[in-house]
Amino acid sequence: MREEVSTPRRTKEIIQRHGFSFKKSLGQNFLIDQNILGKIVGAAGLDKSKGALEIGPGIGALTEKLAQEAGRVAAVEIDQRLLPILEEVLEPYPQVHVIHGDVLKLDLHALFADEFEGCSGVSVVANLPYYVTTPILMKLLEAGLPLENIVVMIQKEVAERMAASPGGKEYGSLSIAVQYYSEPELVCTVPHSVFIPQPNVESAVIRLKVRSAPPVSVADEAFFFEVVQAAFAQRRKTIANNLKSRFFPGEGRERLEALLAESRIEPSRRAETLSLEEFAGLANTLYAAGL
Ligand code: SAM
Repeated sequence: MREEVSTPRRTKEIIQRHGFSFKKSLGQNFLIDQNILGKIVGAAGLDKSKGALEIGPGIGALTEKLAQEAGRVAAVEIDQRLLPILEEVLEPYPQVHVIHGDVLKLDLHALFADEFEGCSGVSVVANLPYYVTTPILMKLLEAGLPLENIVVMIQKEVAERMAASPGGKEYGSLSIAVQYYSEPELVCTVPHSVFIPQPNVESAVIRLKVRSAPPVSVADEAFFFEVVQAAFAQRRKTIANNLKSRFFPGEGRERLEALLAESRIEPSRRAETLSLEEFAGLANTLYAAGL
């Protein structure tokens, strides 16, 4: 049997033989640890009836593990130089399809229809390029794709912000956006030593269990997120001051304070203390008032 792609020895051999040089601008930090790869794949709950979408397969370390667990694997890679390497290392796995492209530009609904027809469920599983983590995750969540889980290695600080509860300094508009669409859970933190080259930031694996419906009902999604953004505009300011700057410039505070009272929110609170339910109630009240 061939040695796994992800062993340090085989990874170095593949890279040297193909004369591959890492591009920092594409977030290329490849995994060389069987244990961490096992934890990532294990958290996705795959089986042969399921599909996996990988973003950024690199030289195929995670792709190979996914091919061993899932029935179908689609892997989107932006760097053309990796395509011949992937073709070589994934040759024993006909259920894997490598797609050359930028995930941010792809039509994901079309990709799902083409790649995962007949699968009983699909998860995204990836060691994400850190320079585009949030745009990629928000694209996946906002697209309303038929997804079960998103299991990704990301910067630890970003994972903590996504999973944060109200009251702490990590809690912000990213926590609310991610928790509106999914239930986040930190799987593990990861030492620098599991990558080549080693990244400058700390990493963590997070699982986002994608919700079939949001946990709160909002009258207008775009307006809800606008209220959340406005509320966190300046973290040290009270909710009343932040909302006043955005929605009531030049007006007195009476109308805003009446609407906050109707939403049962003290004007002196800071956005970081408001739950998702409170934000939804507040946004619905402001929306009903014609803002
Ligand atoms: N999955 C591999 C591993 O774990 O060893 C590589 C992970 S590496 C952190 C990120 C990968 O994403 C690189 O292969 C990089 O070329 C690719 N990538 C970067 N930006 C991308 C984009 N916009 N769309 C698709 N792939 C991208």
